[in-house]
Amino acid sequence: MAGVFWNDGVWTTEEQKLTGPMDHAFWLGSTVFDGARSIKGMVPDLDLHCARVVRSAAAMQMRATLAAEEIEALCREGVRRMGPEAVLYIRPMFFARRGMVPVRPDPDSTTFTLAIYDAPMPGNAGFSAVLAPFRRPAPDMAPTDAKASCLYPNSGRAATWAFERGYDNAVVLDIEGNIAEFASANLMLVKDGVVYTPSVNGAFLNGITRQRVIGLLRGAGIEVREEKLAPERLDDADEIFSTGNYGKVQACTRYGARNLNAGPVAAEARRLYMAFCEQSRILPAAA
Ligand code: PMP
Repeated sequence: MAGVFWNDGVWTTEEQKLTGPMDHAFWLGSTVFDGARSIKGMVPDLDLHCARVVRSAAAMQMRATLAAEEIEALCREGVRRMGPEAVLYIRPMFFARRGMVPVRPDPDSTTFTLAIYDAPMPGNAGFSAVLAPFRRPAPDMAPTDAKASCLYPNSGRAATWAFERGYDNAVVLDIEGNIAEFASANLMLVKDGVVYTPSVNGAFLNGITRQRVIGLLRGAGIEVREEKLAPERLDDADEIFSTGNYGKVQACTRYGARNLNAGPVAAEARRLYMAFCEQSRILPAAA
């Protein structure tokens, strides 16, 4: 895997080992990250991803050592270094090196690291999903407003549970038993031409792609309703799709035992999103 890495003012093409057993992040999980993408020089919503990683650090009581604008400039530089053909995952992170008794991260020990590396886009073939028995924590149980690494073992066990049963992804409920999201992407369903997605309640990450897709769909005259969604709503949905930075818009073509079509609304959402991406070009399209 080719990539570029930035640490302490130095770019390298080799991954460095940055942490060890005395670091708070390694020991007690004080790491936050964000994920953006460059698709052949198009970097949609990079500013929002950089702003979010700074907010995530604050939510974890870490003092961010770089401003969002500085992170954005580094991301652009890394994308340029990888060249106009590359399809990339862009991952800025903050982590705490030291802790203070009892269990607190030392806010002054925050360290920033940036990894930008080749990550092909998933195809358009669609994915399968099943309802997992693990739920998202409520905001007073975990820092759900941060993109914090400590939340992901819970997403990971839902994904593994689904994988072990032959599915690609898991649907995860919130503490009240309503739909929250997929393991690491937001969820939308379509019924009679209307798009439904869970209303923001702190249980799921209010994804940057989710917000962008909602805006694009509404702008195109497609109704989007944000409301509490019982899991049964998935059983007779005409379409189900995911939104997230990694795969952008992906159709769910099997939910539980039921096959679904990769329908027209998901296709339109994807088309609108990819058209929007063109506006975020920082490298010229390859000839
Ligand atoms: N939920 C979770 C738990 C995620 O990890 C992600 C991916 N960042 C998303 C939703 C989608 O968010 P975004 O569109 O900002 O990538």
